[in-house]
Amino acid sequence: DYRAIADNALYKTNNALNRKASIPVDGIQAVVRLYSEHKRISADLNAKRNERSKVGERIRKTSDPSAKKIVFDGALKLKKEVAALEEKLASLEVQLGSLSSAIPNDTHPNAPLGPESAAITLSTHGPEPIPADPARDHVSICKKLDFLDFESAATVTGSSWYYLLNEAALLEIALTNYAMSIALKHGFTPVIPPDVVRSDIASRCGFQPRDQADLAQMYRIDSSHSPGSPELVLAGTAEIPLAGMFAGKVFSSNDLPMKVVGVGHAFRAEAGARGADTRGLYRVHQFTKVELFAVTPEEASETMMEELLKLQKEILLGLQLPFRILDMPTEELGASAYRKYDIEAWMPGRGSWGEVSSLSNCTDYQSRRLHIRYRPNTPSSGIPFAHTLNGTAAAIPRLLVALLENGATFDEKSEIKSIRLPSILKPFWIGLENGRNI
Ligand code: AMP
Repeated sequence: DYRAIADNALYKTNNALNRKASIPVDGIQAVVRLYSEHKRISADLNAKRNERSKVGERIRKTSDPSAKKIVFDGALKLKKEVAALEEKLASLEVQLGSLSSAIPNDTHPNAPLGPESAAITLSTHGPEPIPADPARDHVSICKKLDFLDFESAATVTGSSWYYLLNEAALLEIALTNYAMSIALKHGFTPVIPPDVVRSDIASRCGFQPRDQADLAQMYRIDSSHSPGSPELVLAGTAEIPLAGMFAGKVFSSNDLPMKVVGVGHAFRAEAGARGADTRGLYRVHQFTKVELFAVTPEEASETMMEELLKLQKEILLGLQLPFRILDMPTEELGASAYRKYDIEAWMPGRGSWGEVSSLSNCTDYQSRRLHIRYRPNTPSSGIPFAHTLNGTAAAIPRLLVALLENGATFDEKSEIKSIRLPSILKPFWIGLENGRNI
């Protein structure tokens, strides 16, 4: 929305700074300048096109051959001028498009300002956190109970890849189905999306595979064997294929909200990650994620954000984990989120709270870039862009960490005995009769 950028250049500049957005220093001023040039050339072009539309009649009305030639020459000159202006306008549009699509979304006025440490805890839920205890470290638990195989994965793929074994493999299935069942109960449509997406679609969702910082976070698929085919990336989250599913669509207001729940594999290069985070399952390169995605009319997205949060809370309360909800600050909003809530669960083996879910209201950031619109019920001018939201229903590895570390039970020699899991998972557990240690 070039006009909105030009009219609010100061806000947009401060907002980009507050969010630590990686845009060119004078990017917003350049949009203001180019947009003003665009307006001037558009007006000029319209005037010249208008003039051209009258040329035919002038030629017909002119009988004197030399006068006719003058009109002809004038028409030829006009044609060239129109073509030159059209070319100039097209080039301006490319520059405007590329500069303004890099500008981040606006920010909710209540979002805290600053880095991750400025997050505000909105509420805390679930049982009282048990004391931190290194004996509850999920990696040792998994070793003892034969739940994980990092060694084979290191041979087959590399470090931070893993095989889930035995009950841990079944737990992934149970958690996936449990989260799906809650989403279905709340009217979400189930989807299995593709895990591979065009990098252009990822960019339109706010993930910039071409950007240096993000490039390192996405796995790109080598397409050199099929020149001319679109560049593809492994989706970092099912949010991308779910958002892309609605691209180019115009909904009737009565069709909204659209609510889908997808099960996908998320791929993260996680370049630069180090330290405790890379230990075990906390930060891995591939994980299964159940993702909520909603499309709403513009006035309904804040209410939908609260509805999605309620659903996320229901899932975590059912899992009986201690958790807290955070209002995330400006530097954590990425390109697309207008507001973001993260949920952290207590992980006693790690001795810290760890993010297990995230929820974002992207307002019209993604729909503007993906062309997702709707026709309002009340007569109004135009077909506005819809609002989109995405939220984690279940990101499996971090839930495994929290469930194993909170649920571990020990024998009299302080050896891991078993894992106590919430009974809500029972109906989703296959092979329960063969279960050991659970
Ligand atoms: P995000 O899409 O980055 O907001 O992540 C959504 C959820 O996925 C987070 O809340 C984490 O639970 C989980 N997650 C993100 N990155 C990783 C990773 N590298 N390994 C395991 N889980 C992750």
